[in-house]
Amino acid sequence: MRIRKGELVSEVSSFTIRLSFHGDLAFFLKSKAGNKIVERRLGEKTSVKDVIESCGVPHPEIDLILVKGQPVDFSHILEREQEIDVYPVQSQPTLFHENRLQAKGIDRFIADGHLGKLARDLRLLGFDVVYDRDAQDRQLLAVMEIDNRALLTRDRWLLMHKVVQHGYYPRSQDAAEQTIEVMRRFDLFSAIAPFTRCLRCNALLEKVEKAEVMEKLERLTRIHYEQFRRCTGCGQIYWPGSHFDKLRARIEGIRAMLAAESRSENQI
Ligand SMILES: [Zn+2]
Repeated sequence: MRIRKGELVSEVSSFTIRLSFHGDLAFFLKSKAGNKIVERRLGEKTSVKDVIESCGVPHPEIDLILVKGQPVDFSHILEREQEIDVYPVQSQPTLFHENRLQAKGIDRFIADGHLGKLARDLRLLGFDVVYDRDAQDRQLLAVMEIDNRALLTRDRWLLMHKVVQHGYYPRSQDAAEQTIEVMRRFDLFSAIAPFTRCLRCNALLEKVEKAEVMEKLERLTRIHYEQFRRCTGCGQIYWPGSHFDKLRARIEGIRAMLAAESRSENQI
């Protein structure tokens, strides 16, 4: 026995762990050339979570871990040679339904400062996304914990932070594709509610009578529009003007991508 970081750690002779990463988890591995198998030589007992993250794969991306074909959780300790299978979150898991490590159906998010377009797209579709371009990592983690939000970030080290329960690393660099990815990961397709949330501050919109907002409108807007919504947070007024057409086109573009995706899924 020896002392390390105040703990008692049993000495064990070194052993080799062989990990097979399934689905799109190869995205996170150093070798992207289709090599999904990683071997790790360990000199002491180590949790399966630490071994997986040492390969570059953040734990919120892992939905199922099998050791010798049996499901384990992140705290499972490895102490001898093992074959381990690691699976990502899938839309409809068929095996080991009870042993999945990630929750779905989460519809509250916090996005890091690099994902402004994704945050805007998700708000446009009605989803609750906290976003501050200048937020520091510790602020992101604090709001995530307090509000029980899922963290959206392309910083894998941030996603590996031990306090992160739910999170996702968008693979694409394109905001519309990222939006589809997030909807698929958290199973949000039936929860879309366009034009219900403020794009600027994330608060909900409420319908208002024209007379209530009349004095804040430009002359042509007063003449041409009858339906208005107001942000319950910042007071921003929304109406179906020219900016509305651009936003509607954005929503239609995302819907078209969704429809194309479901057609290709049906063909498999
Ligand atoms: Zn607002």
